[in-house]
Amino acid sequence: MKIHEYQGKEILRKFGVTVPRGIPCMTVEEAVKAAETLGGPVWVVKAQIHAGGRGKGGGVKVAKSLEQVKEYSEQIMGMQLITHQTGPEGQKVRRLMIEEGADIKKELYVSLVTDRVSQRVVLMASSEGGMDIEEVAESHPEKIHNVIIDPAVGLTDADADDVARKIGVPEASIADARANLQGLYKAYWDTDASLAEINPLILTGDGKVIALDAKFNFDANALFRHPEIVAYRDLDEEDPAEVEASKFDLAYISLDGNIGCLVNGAGLAMATMDTIKLFGGEPANFLDVGGGATAEKVTEAFKIMLKNPGLKAILVNIFGGIMRCDVIAEGVITASKAVSLQVPLVVRMKGTNEDLGKKMLAESGLPIIAADTMEDAAKSVVAAAAGQA
Ligand code: ADP
Ligand code: MG
Repeated sequence: MKIHEYQGKEILRKFGVTVPRGIPCMTVEEAVKAAETLGGPVWVVKAQIHAGGRGKGGGVKVAKSLEQVKEYSEQIMGMQLITHQTGPEGQKVRRLMIEEGADIKKELYVSLVTDRVSQRVVLMASSEGGMDIEEVAESHPEKIHNVIIDPAVGLTDADADDVARKIGVPEASIADARANLQGLYKAYWDTDASLAEINPLILTGDGKVIALDAKFNFDANALFRHPEIVAYRDLDEEDPAEVEASKFDLAYISLDGNIGCLVNGAGLAMATMDTIKLFGGEPANFLDVGGGATAEKVTEAFKIMLKNPGLKAILVNIFGGIMRCDVIAEGVITASKAVSLQVPLVVRMKGTNEDLGKKMLAESGLPIIAADTMEDAAKSVVAAAAGQA
């Protein structure tokens, strides 16, 4: 789960990391008020969306008067902000943060990630702040320093100081950098984050260390023990189909293709997508309806897939183990009727009550293309999506 920058900074502040004073706003009027409350002479108007690269896209602007705060807030609020992380359609800006302007002497980079290879949290740091770390990794890999952190000990003073020196923090600011890095590590650890990225972490003219940006991802499997993090969720920033699916406990991920997939079991869902691709098609989604899906759940899954205007065909691929094929058949029939299905539908089912399920589909009067093997099913649905059914 992702959160906004201002929420990330709230968390950082709680863990003793220095962040600029800032106020989140939902309207331009609130933005001007916020600037007055903070006091001048320099403010930064920052778009709040769940994507980085806002500065380059025109979503971060430095204002030197209240008039400019108003002007930039009007420009940014409601804009369709396009960054390298939003995709070409961009993301609508619905929230701003007005922040006090910082006196930047040097921009640095630090992040924490869970590294699968070492099975530890790794601190990554670089003197090249403000840039995309992917670019730095490509052009100057020697400028990225990694510290693998022992969970029993945490980020030690020695490691924090060492990495701070390596990225160019001057001696007089080392203690400040250490406190901030250790606070960041504590924030990451205590909230079950999977990513915490501060880009840039800055050195100010008077030698202070400040986190000027904050990006967090959280492990969805640990959210049950963090109601305070769940409260930060902003559904406007999430894919509407995925939000709808999560209400029905369906594992659904939107993809770019045009063939809808309704499958039970994550393994079979992935195999189905692979087979579709093998025969030249592109899946429109990943969807696992789970082991114990009801007819109602299947109906909802159908409705969600059909909301995609680019959908050209659907493949239902069910293994009837715990899930019975007749339950799926009932769901498919109900849903097809409820949404007056306009795209070709290929159904493959195997296992418990297979014959009953097939009979129900055949007698439903719906134009369903039956398939027996995975290969049959994939070939049929790819042909159907291409208009050759
Ligand atoms: P993004 O990474 O999405 O572009 P940032 O929060 O990193 O957004 O802001 C982009 C740049 O804007 C920063 O690298 C920094 O140079 C400048 N900036 C951001 N916040 C402030 C601030 N409070 N004071 C001064 N400059 C800022
Ligand atoms: Mg940034």
